[in-house]
Amino acid sequence: MDKNIDHSQRDHALLSASGASRWLKCPPSARLEDELPDTTSEFAREGTVAHEVCEILLRKHLGLIAKATATKSINKLKKDALFSDEMLDHANDYIDYITEKIKSDDAAVLVEEQLDFSQYVPEGFGTGDCIIIQDGILTVIDLKYGKGVSVSAEDNPQMKLYALGAVEMYSFIYEFDKVEMCIFQPRIGNISESVETVEDLIKWGEVTVIPTAVLAFEGAGEFIAGDHCRFCKLRNKCKHLADYCMETVREEFEDLDGNLDKSLLEPEDIAMIIGRMKIIQNWLKDVESYAINGILEGTLDVPGYKVVEGRSNRSYVDQDKVVDTLVANGYPESTLFEKKLLTITAMEKAIGKKEFNSLLADLIEKPKGKPTIVPLSDKRSPYTLENEFEDESNEL
Ligand code: SF4
Repeated sequence: MDKNIDHSQRDHALLSASGASRWLKCPPSARLEDELPDTTSEFAREGTVAHEVCEILLRKHLGLIAKATATKSINKLKKDALFSDEMLDHANDYIDYITEKIKSDDAAVLVEEQLDFSQYVPEGFGTGDCIIIQDGILTVIDLKYGKGVSVSAEDNPQMKLYALGAVEMYSFIYEFDKVEMCIFQPRIGNISESVETVEDLIKWGEVTVIPTAVLAFEGAGEFIAGDHCRFCKLRNKCKHLADYCMETVREEFEDLDGNLDKSLLEPEDIAMIIGRMKIIQNWLKDVESYAINGILEGTLDVPGYKVVEGRSNRSYVDQDKVVDTLVANGYPESTLFEKKLLTITAMEKAIGKKEFNSLLADLIEKPKGKPTIVPLSDKRSPYTLENEFEDESNEL
């Protein structure tokens, strides 16, 4: 494969841009994580394939590679078990988005550029999926193929480090005083954009990044736990994270003295518990799987606990043989199968996004979601009970 399109080899610096939200908050985590083996999930590998598809089609669209070369590369990727036709749809959306961003005929458009931000972070480098420079502004676009968490470009350290690298590289050639950072996350329809002046960005690099990166590179600094622990390789055994999760109950409530007033949660207590709910839930699951794996592998003895088989459901060993056996015994196929409409996601995949929208848009409804508690900074409007009461009164 063309070395420019081998995304699996990207971003392996000790202080990577993708890990910056963590090592900027908890500097010693970088060196400790580096001692643990690399793990890669199927989701990450799928993202790599999707990035390669998008890069090839974008390069073809911009006339940077010949159509035949693009077709050959895409056909090769189609043999990958993680490839899906959906990636082609998302690549087209990505190309549409970039095309809309290019406003000037003189725009410089760069694809998969290595960005060196080592002036701020020791050995720091990363790859910008697409960079556009035009009319006094430099735009850094990052494609995210995940669909678990909606990623914001607002004050996003990864994007800001890429932007610093791009400023370093291109400010000698082009004139611009602003940087726009964009996250394009097609699978959940998330587009997040943020603009900063080059001056503010450089100030952040000098005041915040440089001193913290020096600590992180040396393995020094203070352990600080928080939301950034979510993807830390140490999260299942880190005492600082355990402390952070447990202090929620320990520190706040240990001075109970039988006074009824003090026995009920205050609104502030609830806010603190809700604020840490996700991290505590994830931490409990992480510690549980660490314990299960350790016990099974014989590397961990958890006093008072063992691992057993959980509940499981019956399943057919060979579905074809089940059908053959029942048909041979006189059961008609109509008894054996149920006719079921594809789910919306599967239907969209089966007939394509455009056809789906043009034929079925009026036949799709989206019911009101369950009430969910989120921080006030969330952009969604507050949930109201009005419609629910209307529905109930109509039934009476
Ligand atoms: S789990 Fe959190 S506190 Fe512990 S090392 Fe990782 S980032 Fe730091």
